[in-house]
Amino acid sequence: MATILVLGGGYAGMRAVKFLQHDLPAEDEIILVDQTAQHTEKTNLHEVAAGTIDPSKITYHIPEIIHKRVTFLQATVTGIQVADQTATFTNHPDIHYDYVIIALGFQSETFGIPGVADNSLPLDDLDSAQAVYQHLESQFANYHKTKDHDDLKIAVCGAGFTGIELLGELTQSLPKLQAKYQTPAAKLVCFERMPSILPMFGQDLRDYAINFMAKHDVDMRLGAKITAIDPGAVLYEDAEGQPQSFSANSIIWTVGVSGSHVIADSQFEQRRNRVVVNDDLSLADHPEVFIVGDVAAVMDPSSNRPYPTTAQIALAAGEQAAKNIAHLRHQQSTTAFTYESMGTVASLSDRDGIGEIFHKPRQIHGYAASAMKKIITDRSLMESAHLSTLFKKGRFDLYH
Ligand code: NAD
Repeated sequence: MATILVLGGGYAGMRAVKFLQHDLPAEDEIILVDQTAQHTEKTNLHEVAAGTIDPSKITYHIPEIIHKRVTFLQATVTGIQVADQTATFTNHPDIHYDYVIIALGFQSETFGIPGVADNSLPLDDLDSAQAVYQHLESQFANYHKTKDHDDLKIAVCGAGFTGIELLGELTQSLPKLQAKYQTPAAKLVCFERMPSILPMFGQDLRDYAINFMAKHDVDMRLGAKITAIDPGAVLYEDAEGQPQSFSANSIIWTVGVSGSHVIADSQFEQRRNRVVVNDDLSLADHPEVFIVGDVAAVMDPSSNRPYPTTAQIALAAGEQAAKNIAHLRHQQSTTAFTYESMGTVASLSDRDGIGEIFHKPRQIHGYAASAMKKIITDRSLMESAHLSTLFKKGRFDLYH
């Protein structure tokens, strides 16, 4: 008998459990640990932050969807001691494992920029997404009393996937808040260090997204390097290197993420809390430790660079780590991780988006791209949870 410990109930951890519960010998024990009993579909956090979707639509209760043979433990992981094969928790005794899958996910990263932690709103979990929307709504309500135009100014820091998808949703939800609180139109401004957005897409798609923003009066300040966040102000250097500031009572931080701090806390060799793993996703010299998702750096042999940190890759890696543990339990050798992308899509609101799909990239935009994103979401729900979860939470509006 062996104890297999899965740390984290995000995309990678949930997918790993799904395969472990079927593939492991019946006598093996599987323990899944997460600090909350809810799995969150984090690729949709921006919709909760903008208030365009109810949080219950992107979460499901972990104990309801795991197999009876899996023990779910709600506890906060504080460390993994690979030399002793144990994990430690704030609110539970240590657990000794025979195999562990570390899938602890990402957290918002400040990059050491002063004032970020105190003066801006992160967007990295369900609570922070709900806090963003509550803050936005409170500013609209406040405007009645203060008539302070900064209450209606919203700064989105960073035009990566999260920033762009959040801006897309906000173009839909802010007019509704404006109508509800009878205010003038809000001013939406985005600050991005690079001279362009989303460099992984071709120029036509980037232009499409930029035109979408212009059409919805989003002020995209490209080449704007944020240097500090003061209370109620973004300080930045403009494209000419001149110091500038922009005052706003809502400042949302989407400038990038790192892996969970538990990685550095556990003394792993890491960069931004990501550990370089072997091609079978195991840790060097520790064939019993598998690291997947946003805490792992997995080299892509075709580019000789790490794969990007996306939900699709986390799902595939969780599955592969589980299969490799099952191989080892059946005295077989592990196999290398390979990944075939269905494509990359960034939504621009519920009905619009940009994307490149399939291996020979085909560019899509508009409704087709937003429908593709919903298909990817539905597929992930169906594969990680149950068909019943898909029926309750899936995005079916594209099918009619
Ligand atoms: P990101 O790193 O992709 O984007 C952050 C952006 O902030 C970048 O454009 C960067 O140039 C900019 N930036 C960095 N420092 C800055 C500064 N000082 N001033 C101004 N701008 C600055 O981070 P993210 O958008 O939070 O996404 C995190 C991860 O999740 C990424 O790997 C992303 O690919 C993934 N993700 C994917 C999807 C999707 O596939 N639809 C959606 C959301 C997130």
